[in-house]
Amino acid sequence: MTELAITRSFPIVPQVTSLIDGKHVAPRATGEEIEIVNPATEAVLTRLREADAEEVDTAVRSARRAFDQGPWPRMDINDRKDILYSIRDHLRKHSEELAYLECLNTGLPLQSVRGHVARMARNFEFFAEVASNVHGETYTQTAGFLTYVTREPKGVAGCIAPWNAPLALASMRVATCIPFGNTCVLKPSEYTPLSMLRMVEIFHEAGLPPGVVNLVNGRGAVTGNALVAHPGIDMVGFTGGTVTGRAIAAAAGRNLKPVALELGGKSANIIFESANLEQALDGALDSIYRNNGQQCLAGSRILVQRSIAKRFIEAFVERARRIRIGDPLQADTELGPLAFRQHMERVLSFAEVARSDGAKLLTGGKRAAAQPRGWFIEPTAVLAADNDARVCREEIFGPFATFLEFDTLDEAITIANASNFGLVNYVWSQDLNVAMRCSRDIRAGTVWINTPMMRELRAPFGGYKESGIGRDGPQASLEFFTELKATIIPIDGVKMHRFGAS
Ligand code: NAD
Repeated sequence: MTELAITRSFPIVPQVTSLIDGKHVAPRATGEEIEIVNPATEAVLTRLREADAEEVDTAVRSARRAFDQGPWPRMDINDRKDILYSIRDHLRKHSEELAYLECLNTGLPLQSVRGHVARMARNFEFFAEVASNVHGETYTQTAGFLTYVTREPKGVAGCIAPWNAPLALASMRVATCIPFGNTCVLKPSEYTPLSMLRMVEIFHEAGLPPGVVNLVNGRGAVTGNALVAHPGIDMVGFTGGTVTGRAIAAAAGRNLKPVALELGGKSANIIFESANLEQALDGALDSIYRNNGQQCLAGSRILVQRSIAKRFIEAFVERARRIRIGDPLQADTELGPLAFRQHMERVLSFAEVARSDGAKLLTGGKRAAAQPRGWFIEPTAVLAADNDARVCREEIFGPFATFLEFDTLDEAITIANASNFGLVNYVWSQDLNVAMRCSRDIRAGTVWINTPMMRELRAPFGGYKESGIGRDGPQASLEFFTELKATIIPIDGVKMHRFGAS
């Protein structure tokens, strides 16, 4: 069944503010004002009023109250689960509105966004079940003592999300955090706040108690920095770029707060001559051009075995040129605009970077001529001379593929691992030994063999090296978002040493 476009529009707030303690912060005339732009048309959709340090403080205090005194951490798990399931149902009920706001503000094609909305609802259901299965440990080996270990929610989280897929990524930050009884302050990207505001409203419409999720809007250097440096938060969950991740880890470290960082990537997608080449071609196009190429897990370095490279690259370029570029709200659009102008300029600048590093431009490298307005670029591909080229080392974060050729399995693994990142890798081969060697020897948090991006919520997701610290997943999130407490009780009474008694 072909999916339908979204034909109706939904209201857009005249000013985006924060949402603290279950209430919108009233629109006001003071503070930095940021234009929120539709990247497909360049039209200003609304304006965001930035939260300063004082407003962030109000949000953290609200989350603190909800944690220290509120019902949420103390609630019977069945009642908490009911609310999380209600969030799932309300997100589904409003899925078209959320998808509309997301497409409008990010430029992501509707076909991607519909998948993100379905997934975000699923995240709340899934982690509700994880939280309801939390259990402890007991130890009785030491004669006469019972020791039991309980898990408790850790406290107030600062959750910071990027602009490339706000619904999918911010919902993951919140859904891994609050089911365990924590509360949080969420700061989305200042470029893409529209779906985020509606998402947090929906949490409250679904019955979430005030203060459990507070939303603050503003730039990283102002609002984000005030949140991370606030002494009232107990941990930080961050998804975004590696440079920002470093700054956030340093700021949180000064307050000795733990951080979970989901950062960037420059993932290898290795195509062996033993691959099902038709599937590998579909997979290669999908993993670099889906979500407008703006995805941490993009297969942006495509390593092709030399014996098949010419044929494979020609077929890839031919298909890349036929990708449907256009209005993100149309159901058959495959590539929308990049999220904002400076980002488009940065992505395009890599065409020149590639040339000066000796790479060959295969296709694209310029704005899409058929689009009169908006930050659209053509699907781009280059063939690099070697893995030292900047287009092989730096995350470009757009519809920009870099090809490299290799001869042997060992060489492919060496090139794949020669990166500061280690988020995911893709491998295409029908030869079991090749697939298993890659699985064992590639240093990345996920290895996808003969499949593009199958996200298994039950498995940990995260990066090696500069792609992050920590993982999202039932066990990893449980460990990050809970504290362990050991309680020790004597069963037969204790023989005490009596200081000063005799
Ligand atoms: P970014 O690092 O520029 O911004 C992310 C968030 O951090 C934004 O909300 C921003 O306002 C905030 N921020 C910036 N400076 C801050 C500071 N000093 N203190 C506190 N907050 C600050 O990232 P981006 O450009 O929005 O997103 C793209 C990046 O995110 C890419 O590198 C991509 O690979 C990465 N990403 C990673 C994953 C993953 O799961 N590993 C998923 C999606 C995106």
